Amino acid sequence: MQVTKEQFIRDFKDTLHEEQQIKIIDATPRELFIALAKTLRKYYTPLWLERRRDLEKEQKKIAYYFSIEFLPGRMLETNLLNLGLLETVKEAFADLDLDFDTIKETEHDMALGNGGLGRLAAAFMDSLATTGYAGFGNGLRYRYGLFKQRIVDGYQVELPDPWFDSTGSVWETRKDHDNVYVKLYGDVYLQADDAGNLTPVYQGAQILRAVPYDVAQLGFENDTVNNLRLWDVEIPEEDELRYPTIADRRRIEDITAVLYPDDSNAQGRELRLVQEYFMTSAGLQTIIRSYLKMNLPLEDIYQKVAVHINDTHPAVAPAEFMRLLVDEYGLSWDKAWQATVKTMSYTNHTILSEALEKWDAGLFKYVLPRVYQIVLEIDRRYVADLAAKGVAPDVIEATRVVKDNQIHMAHLAIIGGHSVNGVAKLHTELLKEDTLHAFYQLFPEKFNNKTNGIVQRRWTQIADEALSNELDKWIGKEWRTDIHHLRKLNAFVDDEQAQADFYQVKQTAKARLAKYIFETTGVEVSLDAIFDVQVKRLHAYKRQLLNVLHIIKLYWDLKDNPEKDMVPRVFIFGAKAAPGYHFAKSVIKVINELANLINNDETLGGKLKVVFLENYRVSLAELIIPAANVSEQISLASKEASGTSNMKFMMTGAITLATLDGANIEIKDEVGEDNIVIFGMDKDDVYEHYQKHDYYSRGIYENNPTLKRVIDSFVNGTIPNIQSEGMEIYETLITHNDEYFLLEDFDAYVKVQETIDKLYRNRSHWMKMSLVNIANSDKFTSDDTIEEYAREIWHLEK
Ligand SMILES: *Cc1c(COP(=O)(O)O)cnc(C)c1O
Repeated sequence: MQVTKEQFIRDFKDTLHEEQQIKIIDATPRELFIALAKTLRKYYTPLWLERRRDLEKEQKKIAYYFSIEFLPGRMLETNLLNLGLLETVKEAFADLDLDFDTIKETEHDMALGNGGLGRLAAAFMDSLATTGYAGFGNGLRYRYGLFKQRIVDGYQVELPDPWFDSTGSVWETRKDHDNVYVKLYGDVYLQADDAGNLTPVYQGAQILRAVPYDVAQLGFENDTVNNLRLWDVEIPEEDELRYPTIADRRRIEDITAVLYPDDSNAQGRELRLVQEYFMTSAGLQTIIRSYLKMNLPLEDIYQKVAVHINDTHPAVAPAEFMRLLVDEYGLSWDKAWQATVKTMSYTNHTILSEALEKWDAGLFKYVLPRVYQIVLEIDRRYVADLAAKGVAPDVIEATRVVKDNQIHMAHLAIIGGHSVNGVAKLHTELLKEDTLHAFYQLFPEKFNNKTNGIVQRRWTQIADEALSNELDKWIGKEWRTDIHHLRKLNAFVDDEQAQADFYQVKQTAKARLAKYIFETTGVEVSLDAIFDVQVKRLHAYKRQLLNVLHIIKLYWDLKDNPEKDMVPRVFIFGAKAAPGYHFAKSVIKVINELANLINNDETLGGKLKVVFLENYRVSLAELIIPAANVSEQISLASKEASGTSNMKFMMTGAITLATLDGANIEIKDEVGEDNIVIFGMDKDDVYEHYQKHDYYSRGIYENNPTLKRVIDSFVNGTIPNIQSEGMEIYETLITHNDEYFLLEDFDAYVKVQETIDKLYRNRSHWMKMSLVNIANSDKFTSDDTIEEYAREIWHLEK
């Protein structure tokens, strides 16, 4: 978009005057942010309208990405960058004597997601617009995003995240004309109409209005604007007598009040089921409506529409689509089923069995009586079909939708769709071999892999300006528009000047983070230390505790020998724990108390520091990740489906210290074994223990004095103020046999940490490794991931 600096300044001032009746000198940073956002909206709104008209005219196929989470973080800089106005606006603000950074930081993160899954959905929105495909998001407009984390006395405290009240509403547009109605509860029976067809009659159903709020998704410098549609709930005026009190109305508003803060445990909560159905039904209803405007036969809808089910939360989609096609639009079951299967596709995000969503059949029937009948019919036909084909009864039983009085949502998504994908090569292999093996035998053609990706623009051009400028200097600017040009950097990995220059880039990012650490925690950290970072949700399988074990080991090393020759190390953590996840919260407490112990012990000579940064979120990730020297990706092999922070770290020049899990394996394939540090058990080692039932953590503990001393530190008063948490951790590791095999991996982990220490001493070599990582990180652009989804799953044209 072409806007001169002078024009922008005029438009910006006009917006401030007209809409906020205020002059620049009187405006707060937040008011300036709002005016800036509104100015941008004026710029892209015509493009948005044009896009809608073009899509209607050209009748191109549209993919709808259904996700209960979207985690875009801040939108301002992305929107500016994608419009091609970031530099112009920064210069304009400098002219106006306004500090751009202060203004941008008033934007509250849009945190309608928990972590990786939601961040991926947001990345896909950006990449869909950037690659030019018609791809729309469909989700919920939570009034409160993921909780805000505060640390008080070392404990996580969760506060509401009223993102919406501060700056959240500035990017959205309410679309009343696209309202739909969603039915819940009540009774349903079937009645023959005049033609003898059975139609459902609803009695006493609760009818709610779904109102869409659209958020523009701008493509990078291509004038493409897609749509992220977030649904909110309202009480229809006709029904207001049903809700005479404020409390009655609040119960309805609660449907879109909060994002569930459970990262991978399905909570059997009625409200959650209502949320899932609400957004799925509303989305599908508008999709059918807009398809029908083209006057094409409904049974061919899959030719113009793809519906993607991101994890199981929207997995009621095949059943709801059937309900709409059969009940509301009169298609025969068989035609509707064919259309449904060809329309739907599903991404699995985890092999953790507790996270594979299942609903109690009684609850499902109570909340969604008609959809329940349809699920039963899908299940009945599935069983009959396979039995007729001679499929073994145990295979049928293992894969059907309704069994043991539960509705298996992943099964519904697989049976009701044409594609199932995992999110990294290893993960997809595990789905085929293990988690979904029976399905794979029945429908091998449905399975495919789509390794996750990241929006490189956010992690380089936005989060790491110094890196971006240095890249321009060495390889020219083409990488900014086509990330594959990063590979040119491979020619300079041995260049001493390049190594020195990129070292300075990292030091710049470290200085910025060190300042933030000091301001927020009071801890002073040295820029000569290795910044060793683990930021991600707190979960047992991610093994933050293994990192802690190693830190305690270093602590004892230094206590025994203060002269220990080691490069100073700063261990940096950021992690939210689900509020009900007791163990995870105990680990946070322990990290904080360990940090207190270590940071205040002068005998350690400043060689060791531990920092826990509260409220990890996208905007904080943008500050932390570019400053990392070491990227900790130490999940138990087979448990991390893909990971995406591993890719962000790689792209900004950290060395990955990793197990052979998720996309770490693919990072290794890109950089080669010499430029990544791998340790520990692989997936086969892990599965062997499962088969042989031969893991015995107490045996390891008793035979490894170093490890024993480390673990005893949790319960012998070494770390103050962790009586119950220390005991809980001790019991997890020893009494409950260490489910994630930390003890077995401990020695290997300590060893590679020593390798890191050695490698870092050779700056030239370290920087070579770092440059190889940056140079080959283009592999993980979500733009390419989206190209694969578009080609191989959704069958879209540009
Ligand atoms: C990228 C990202 C994640 C995902 O991190 P993993 O280490 O892949 O689990 C989670 N939260 C935020 C805020 C992120 O930016």
